[in-house]
Amino acid sequence: MIDVRGLRKSFGKNLVLDGVDLQVEQGDVVAVIGPSGSGKSTLLRCLNLLEEPDGGTITINDVTVNPPRYTAKEAHALRQQTAMVFQSYNLFRNKTALQNVTEALVVGKKMPRKEADETGRRLLTRVGLSEDTIQQYPITLSGGQQQRVSIARALAVRPKAILLDEPTSALDPELVNEVLAVIRTLAQEHTTMVIVTHEMAFAAEVADRVVFMDGGSVVEAGPPSQVLAAPRHERTRRFLRELG
Ligand code: ATP
Ligand code: MG
Repeated sequence: MIDVRGLRKSFGKNLVLDGVDLQVEQGDVVAVIGPSGSGKSTLLRCLNLLEEPDGGTITINDVTVNPPRYTAKEAHALRQQTAMVFQSYNLFRNKTALQNVTEALVVGKKMPRKEADETGRRLLTRVGLSEDTIQQYPITLSGGQQQRVSIARALAVRPKAILLDEPTSALDPELVNEVLAVIRTLAQEHTTMVIVTHEMAFAAEVADRVVFMDGGSVVEAGPPSQVLAAPRHERTRRFLRELG
């Protein structure tokens, strides 16, 4: 489903991705963990070309790009394969929850308004929002509700994979679980997901594979029973130990 080879990215002299390989099977959940600054967000952002990689190969579903040379058409095709969920929700503030979900359907996919509204309602119900909540503007919603709208919005475009960058780390502790519950359900339904997370217990529970990054490289990748419970690399052990 996702096959990344030798991905490289620098910001000026700062080498942030130093030849990253990442494989994600269809229906799998991959958790990406690692210290701050190790390149986790940059990796996710490179997957949909929000950042322009310097080199490597990215294949998602049946679309391959070979940065730094790719056409606008290839970039568009690659972006169609995924949807992103950000730590800070990134909802349109001047649109209701429902409008946030239907926007890409009406404008991007030219779906008739009525059909888009039905799809939006169904998805927002699925992430646990009530009928009156879906007519509200983001500012009147809790962080947990906003993040669930953001997940519904990602699902709306029927991506092949969802990329989530620390989806719960901006939330008050009491709101974390409602968002994790939605992600857990998606995982059980075999939605292909790449999740950057600091929630190790959650990664252990939902991830099929865990990827530990440090200094722009993948140090260790494997099932949670290896990477989280019996890491082979000293750097992984140290990282987990320092988390406490
Ligand atoms: P965190 O756990 O804190 O979110 P991360 O693993 O997601 O960290 P990245 O955000 O990918 O790390 O950042 C990796 C490195 O790239 C850092 O040194 C960061 O300062 C740098 N970096 C990221 N984005 C940019 C940018 N747009 N311009 C310049 N440097 C950047
Ligand atoms: Mg990050």
